[in-house]
Formats: sequence, C-alpha cells, structure tokens
Amino acid sequence: MLQTLKTYFGYEQFRPLQEEIIQRIIDKKDALVLMPTGGGKSICYQLPALLLEGTAVIVSPLISLMKDQVESLRSNGIEAAALNSSNDETENANIRRACVDGKLKLLYISPERLLAEIDYLLRDMHISLFAIDEAHCISQWGHDFRPEYTQMGVLHQQFPKIPIIALTATADKITREDIIRQLHMDDPQIFISSFDRPNISLTVRRGHQAKEKNKSIGEFVRRHAGESGIIYCMSRNKTEAVAQMLQKQGIQCGVYHAGLSAQQRNETQDDFINDRIQIVCATIAFGMGIDKSNVRWVIHYNMPKSMESFIRK
Ligand code: ADP
Repeated sequence: MLQTLKTYFGYEQFRPLQEEIIQRIIDKKDALVLMPTGGGKSICYQLPALLLEGTAVIVSPLISLMKDQVESLRSNGIEAAALNSSNDETENANIRRACVDGKLKLLYISPERLLAEIDYLLRDMHISLFAIDEAHCISQWGHDFRPEYTQMGVLHQQFPKIPIIALTATADKITREDIIRQLHMDDPQIFISSFDRPNISLTVRRGHQAKEKNKSIGEFVRRHAGESGIIYCMSRNKTEAVAQMLQKQGIQCGVYHAGLSAQQRNETQDDFINDRIQIVCATIAFGMGIDKSNVRWVIHYNMPKSMESFIRK
C-alpha cells in the first residue's frame, strides 16, 4: 500500500485513518468515512482501486469535481474517465467500451447516469468497489439533499459482494445513520477523523446595529486587503445589499446567489478563482466544488442556523 502511495501519488506516508480505511476496502468490507475537506478522502478509494482487480465506480454529484479528479489521476498515469452529461455521445461510447474491456481503474459517474446504467453497463463490467462521494447528499437530514442519491440503495441489493465506501465532510449522527440505512451498508465501520484545523481561528462578535456591523466589516476587509474572502449572507437580497455597502466604501466585490443567471454566476466564480476579484458576497449556493487554495477569511453576515451549516460553510 505504501509503495503504491509513493509510486502513484508521490507521498511518503499515510495521513491518519487512510491506511485503515484502505485496508477495509481491500478486505471487501463497507466503510463510512467522515473527513474534513482537504483531509484526503480521495486516496481512500483511489488507492484500493489501484490494488483491486477491476474498475472502481465513483458516484459524484459534481461534474466539475469529476473533471478535476480525472485529470489529476491521468497525470499520475492512472486510467480514469468520467461518464456524465457534459460528454458528447462519441466520448461516452468510448468510455463505455473502455469499461467493458476493463481498461479503466476508475470510472466517475453522476448518480442519474449510474441509475440509468445499472442494468446495462454495470452488469457488463468487472467492478472492484463503489465509492459514494459527498454521501451526505443521500439524506434529507443533511444539506444539499439530492433525490437521485436516495436510490443508491439498489447498488448493494444488486451487487452484494462489492464493497461500498461512502465519504463526506459533513454528517451529524442522524445523517450518518441515514446514509448507512439507505445504502443498505453491511456492518460498516465508521471512520471519523479529527476536524481540528489548528490554522483556522473563529471569532464571534455580538450583532451590532447594521451601521456598526457594516463599518466593522469595511474595516476588517481593508485590514485584509489583497486577501481572498467570502461574505456569506442568509438571503439573496442581503448579498446584493452587502456588496453595495462595500462598493460605496470603495471596495470591489462580486455577488453570487441562485437567483442570478448561470452566466453571471460563472463569471463571478471565475473572477474569484483567478483572483480578479478578492471578495464575493454569497448565499450558500456558493462554495461547493470551488477549489481555491488562498481563501483567507470568511464572514458570516448572519449567524448560521446550526453547527452543521456552520461547519459546511
Ligand atoms: P478531500 O476529498 O478530503 O477534500 P483530497 O482527497 O482532495 O481531500 O485531498 C486533499 C489534498 O491532500 C490533496 O492535494 C491530496 O493529494 C493530499 N493528500 C492526500 N493524502 C495525502 C497524504 N497521505 N500525504 C500527503 N498529501 C496527501
């Protein structure tokens, strides 16, 4: 295992729990993994995928994340592909053929596509394991609930011998139980890694009057000039109002919420990722799937409703 880690990923040692999780999957047993974002979840299924015979099927809800993962695996010399609606038909036909011929070590697939293929492609493949990424999407108790995730239970019914690993960065106890129940996981071991992030500090300020609150946000932002940050607001209107308030103080920032057109949202996201704007005022529609290494601060303009939604942001 260590040799494979070094050869393909270039790391000298495992992070806490990775080795135990990988061993569990290699032993063909089920696992539920809770690890913070950036904790190293991907290796927990990518490495077993390399060690086991056949192709690992990774269910992932976000096309952009699939693309990143596939590119990075390929650059490490690992055969991987993603089957989803962003490919054209020829691409998808080629990928399906590669699956049947056993040429891929990992196949990323959207939940909708997986359900469509369950009686077809999946039957014709030699599958090593199923990984359900962002597994909290399965539960109505979690956030980002996705109805198509609730049908993932058929996997264990139709392929009882193939191990399932479900991974998430956020699931409270009820959500964890729901994931296990809905996936019909077989006596799964639950791995919870530490969520302590020593490089992150939290400050809570009393809710000042709006004027005072805006002033202290303006001061904070100026003190952190040149650093990327996000201001989360509870409502769409609030994101616009806070952005205007900052603009009045001469501070440039973008706005992101589900009420904007896809083009406007993409532009803001692109500008933020490429450091053309430093600040985005957003609802929680913003954030998931954004891979940006230099976000230095986050302001919650309104207090999150629960600890869960606080951690998720
Ligand atoms: P997650 O999916 O949990 O958010 P990733 O799987 O993307 O996290 O991993 C986060 C980063 O940590 C990646 O750059 C990954 O290559 C790196 N990483 C994972 N495992 C190790 C390890 N054992 N040693 C060093 N870096 C690691």
